[in-house]
Amino acid sequence: MPEPEATVFRLRVIDKPYKTPDKISYRWGMVATPVKPYPEEYRSIFFFQYGNFGNDLIDNSETVKQFKSVLGLAKAMGVTHFEIFSWNKNFMGQPLLEDQKQIDDCRRANEIIKAYGFKPIFYSGWNAGNPKMKMWPFFGEQMIRRPTRFSYTGYFQCARGGYESYLANGIAWMIKTLGVEGVYLDSTSWAVPCNDAHHGCGYIDSKTGERRITRCIWHTREMFKRIYKILHGEVIADGMLYNHAGQSPLMAIESFIDVKHCGEGAYHVSSLKKFFDIDLYRAAYNGKQYGWPIEHTWNDRAAIARNSVWGLGLLHDNVIKMYSTSVIDTSLWLVNYEDKRGIDWKMWAPKQWFQWKDYTWHPYYDNGDVLSVSDSDGYGSFHVNEKKQMLFCAVNLAQEKKTIEFKFNVKQLKLPEIMYARDVVTDEDFQIKDGAFSLDILGERPRILMIDTKPVPAIELKLPTAP
Ligand SMILES: [Zn+2]
Repeated sequence: MPEPEATVFRLRVIDKPYKTPDKISYRWGMVATPVKPYPEEYRSIFFFQYGNFGNDLIDNSETVKQFKSVLGLAKAMGVTHFEIFSWNKNFMGQPLLEDQKQIDDCRRANEIIKAYGFKPIFYSGWNAGNPKMKMWPFFGEQMIRRPTRFSYTGYFQCARGGYESYLANGIAWMIKTLGVEGVYLDSTSWAVPCNDAHHGCGYIDSKTGERRITRCIWHTREMFKRIYKILHGEVIADGMLYNHAGQSPLMAIESFIDVKHCGEGAYHVSSLKKFFDIDLYRAAYNGKQYGWPIEHTWNDRAAIARNSVWGLGLLHDNVIKMYSTSVIDTSLWLVNYEDKRGIDWKMWAPKQWFQWKDYTWHPYYDNGDVLSVSDSDGYGSFHVNEKKQMLFCAVNLAQEKKTIEFKFNVKQLKLPEIMYARDVVTDEDFQIKDGAFSLDILGERPRILMIDTKPVPAIELKLPTAP
């Protein structure tokens, strides 16, 4: 590969329109920070987000019954981690569990979740600075990042303003008191810029006399390190720090996470190609090189954030987090890639079908020797294991439908003359002869295949009997 002529740094140092001074100075530093081997146990993790949860769940037996039917369905789908997004329509990041009844109810809810063999994970981080909290007059306001930013019902906080201890200790409290076994931190690893002199943040511009912002990387790093240690030995042995943050890697902080979750940026893009700037995407959304599994989100707000994001995820060996809405309402389940429907449990089927033992990953950016693709808008990544099972993901980045031909290097991969494929979504099955096959792929859509040396059975969900 030739040496690049230039290395481009892309900087985003503010999140609001800002009049730049005549000259901006950057100070660069190198941070020695750990990376981890990719955690193979992640192959058996299936993350499920449950929407609103609250006292009515515990107080109303009919609601408990409905909730248990969701849990039973989730069990059949192979869920392992069950996240509670909000409690009584409030984000769990807000310290609203100050009332003893709420604390008791929440503990009981977690016991129900644990009875199904799931780890209860709680949402936190975003808007933990709620002025309604009882301790607000004592230290709440001090934690606010400045200039202030209020969103939903709380302020953003600066780790340097006391938030580091508040959040780390709050998570330890949730584990001990509520029975939580992990935390889903929303946007907390941003290291938000702050200029609060009392925190020690910011600096005075000698020319204008204005107070300028600095990013609070070190205290945010310490905060994540503390939370990671709490979840991995100090308070609980095998907890999870699930980090929801769409930014490019911030290694100084994100060395201390278990899973990164991103992809909300896809809501706003007009085309998949714009979103899928390959180099940028690989840097931001491929955590393998740092030892992070990455999960993606999807949302109905933009067409390309549905099953196409699923395709992009699998193209990078990521998966998609599942929402309760896609479990409860089976009318939303996909029957083909054209559907403008939610993503359902089928997105997990390939990961559950494939035997993750002695396998090799051949990503699109490094598989030219083992896979040829007929169209420059077509991309294919695949896993192959010792038994020659394959998990294949193809994506068509063009906006129009295309027929794209793929051919494996049979000799190098040591594949048999005939192989069998089954599409996870459409259930179509076909033979692959001498490694060659073609796929009709809708515009900005993926196709996901399970391939084996013998016919691949259809994926079926074994529904549980009513509780
Ligand atoms: Zn600050």
